[in-house]
Amino acid sequence: MKGERKLLRALMSFLLLCILPFALSAQTSPEDFLGFKVGADRKLADYNQIKTYFEKLDQESEKIKVLTIGQSTLNKPMIMAVITSEQNMAKLDTYREIVKSLRDSRTLSPEEAKKLAKEGKVILLITCNIHATEIASSQMAMELAYKLATGDTPFKADKVLDEVITLLVPTTNPDGETMVTEWYRKYVGTKYEGGRMPWLYHHYAGHDNNRDWFMFNLPESRAVTKVLYHDWLPQIHIDEHQMGSTGARLFIPPFMNPPLPNVQALLWRSISLCGVNMAYDLEKQGYKGVVHDRSFTGWWIGACDDTSWLHNVVGLLSEMASVNVATPINIESTEIPQSYYEKRMQFPNPWPGGWWRLRDLVDYELVLSLSLIKTAYLHKEDFLFNFYQMSKNSIENREKGDPFAFVIPSKQDDYPTTLRMLDILMFGGVEIHQAEEDFLADGKAYPVGSFVVKASQPYKPYAVALLEKQKYPDIRQYEGGPPIPPYDNAGWTLPLQMGVKCDQIEHPFEARLEKLEKVPYPTPSPSPATSDYILLDSRINGSYAAVFSLLKDKAEIYRAKEKIEGKEFKAKTGSFIIKNTPQVQKALPALIEKWHIPIYELENITEIPKAPLKNKTIGLYQSWRSNMDEGWTRYVFDDLGVSYTTLHNKDFKGTKKNKVDLKAKYDVIVFADEDPEIIKQGKPSPTSRWARYFTPLPPEYEGGIGKEGVETLKTFVEKGGILVTLNNSCQLIFKEFKVPARNAIERVERSKFFCPTSILKIKVDNKTPIGYGMPKEAAAMFSRSLALDTWIPSGEWDRKVVASFPEENLLLSGWLLGEKVIARKAAVVDAKYSKGHIILIGIRCQHRAQSHGTYKFLLNALLYPEID
Ligand SMILES: [Zn+2]
Repeated sequence: MKGERKLLRALMSFLLLCILPFALSAQTSPEDFLGFKVGADRKLADYNQIKTYFEKLDQESEKIKVLTIGQSTLNKPMIMAVITSEQNMAKLDTYREIVKSLRDSRTLSPEEAKKLAKEGKVILLITCNIHATEIASSQMAMELAYKLATGDTPFKADKVLDEVITLLVPTTNPDGETMVTEWYRKYVGTKYEGGRMPWLYHHYAGHDNNRDWFMFNLPESRAVTKVLYHDWLPQIHIDEHQMGSTGARLFIPPFMNPPLPNVQALLWRSISLCGVNMAYDLEKQGYKGVVHDRSFTGWWIGACDDTSWLHNVVGLLSEMASVNVATPINIESTEIPQSYYEKRMQFPNPWPGGWWRLRDLVDYELVLSLSLIKTAYLHKEDFLFNFYQMSKNSIENREKGDPFAFVIPSKQDDYPTTLRMLDILMFGGVEIHQAEEDFLADGKAYPVGSFVVKASQPYKPYAVALLEKQKYPDIRQYEGGPPIPPYDNAGWTLPLQMGVKCDQIEHPFEARLEKLEKVPYPTPSPSPATSDYILLDSRINGSYAAVFSLLKDKAEIYRAKEKIEGKEFKAKTGSFIIKNTPQVQKALPALIEKWHIPIYELENITEIPKAPLKNKTIGLYQSWRSNMDEGWTRYVFDDLGVSYTTLHNKDFKGTKKNKVDLKAKYDVIVFADEDPEIIKQGKPSPTSRWARYFTPLPPEYEGGIGKEGVETLKTFVEKGGILVTLNNSCQLIFKEFKVPARNAIERVERSKFFCPTSILKIKVDNKTPIGYGMPKEAAAMFSRSLALDTWIPSGEWDRKVVASFPEENLLLSGWLLGEKVIARKAAVVDAKYSKGHIILIGIRCQHRAQSHGTYKFLLNALLYPEID
């Protein structure tokens, strides 16, 4: 017996020795690949390493396939791993077809849907690291993939992988991941270790890359949106983030109040189911400090996971407490806020304080990600069937207050921008029809060619949320007390932001409609204009883009000082008159094709009052404090082909002997929305609540333009320069110049006036150069914005109010308390000083490259006509 057992044991050992190398070394662990454990103190894998590791897993495992889903802004390939069983891997197309069928209930009976839910596989998307400094999830992703491939999971991986197709994007921001890793490695071991970078961690957007998920300005948002609503159609989606360091260790849903009214109740319940399971799994394994129902609301559309809700996708968010990138921190228990120190129902196990390291974040994230995969498995059929059911609810149910449709009339001030809006809507999955005849809706006549968005469609919550006017609920800390601010925007209505007319229709109507497969951009006329001059309509943003391009080619261009009527057109004041030279004729076709702009022929212009335009040199200030609004301004400039030079603090400073003459180099200087203290000193005032977040930077990035820079700017304006200040940078002018204007709401308490990012009505004087091309009444984005008092000037000053808030009914979308405080105040002022101008734009005229409807205030400033 003994001998036999010995022999058996020897045989077993031999067999194990033969199998083990295959079983264990078939997949390289992240630790073996990187040479350090994922999440080790002060160690980071950069994007190149992450990508190479995933490609290695792809080669080593039949359960992992790595795909390229797009290119980042700085042209890095964006990767996504598909993780599922070998059997599923062979049938991915079949499973994608199944979810495609389930998405649209119009082509499927409930019985058929039940059958497909049984047959299909639930698709779960995990996106990581969109905010590049929130780096733990990009590191965790490697270990998660490895654990799933090798079966090192708290569940039977084979069973789970056979029912769940996990899509894992290790970083939605590969450019940022690379920047953050390089910066961190450069300063590790110095006093700047773990500190902030002086520039944005996304080329244009920085943190706002997670505010772009209905506008799709960024290639990264487009790549993931294609996965979400075009190519893979997941039923569940989680976006993994990090938050501040001293509160809860982890936030996971349920979200806190208020909910977006358009999101289906079944979806909120599904989110809670997943969130509660995560919290349970974490608790079971002894993880402390997990909170839900705090900080993160159910009211927002611009973030990656939130747009999911509106597409019937169970969208979740996780937010880990941060360390200093990869540097551990020690938190004193006294530094933990009371609300995270005491037990609460939504926070039953507080974390006591102590050391907190990157590996802790990786551990929590592994548990919550695996928990979500398990929940997807446990409720697979439900998730798939609910995907169908929510589409059915969207199409068939009309709840109280639901509109019947939205009509976008074909007659618009800026038709090309209208088409651009339709393009954006369609990319987000909105179905749009076009009328083949004139029709009546809610008693109003609409011409043939108008666009109709019916509320009854699979992604109804999304379509309605983008087109309707938001009414943010009046939520206070206590009855009659101060308002509780929303997480981000209170209102975002896309047609208002883009200056597009759109009517909400309450009652059903009949019309002959054709469903659009693509946006009907007009075919440009094949015969070029032969007249001496051509005219471009100033109401169209694309006309400005064409003008910027033609000015670079030294074209002769004027702005009409009055309206012009021709045989085929009626052009508003400020329209562009362009001498039709052979060079212009050569350049025009490409511009017309790109911008879809109409051109009109003009013969004699001698009678038209006009002012010449010059190709102005433009400088755009960039502080070393990673200002998102500066990034978006650059985005708008690049989008419209505006040439500019980025100016840094040093460009405003000279030596005693060698003074800087900005006017010799620039005609226009633009300051994006920024705290004036940061512009001047490089940091907010020490009493500001933001001061603690401004950690020191290496000396070359410290400071601002200084006193000297302010003096240089004064001289710049005196010599005839155009200085443009957007939103809060206007405060620099109030503080440093004797401009006859001030911010009327600088010290107004929140209980008297409150307007969290919302859309307000403004009145515009469109006969004055900065208002050219604007309608008389427009919608402006108000976000920590200004309301200006002006007064009768003296000396070398003058002022012209270009736009102002009306007397009443200011709110168009969002939330506004105390409108009287800003009623009749100015929003945009053209202040003349000596030979130059200071253009004070107190609203967000290019907010996140979304508010196309007010771009013209900025564009007009860049094109300020010369005095003739
Ligand atoms: Zn984040």
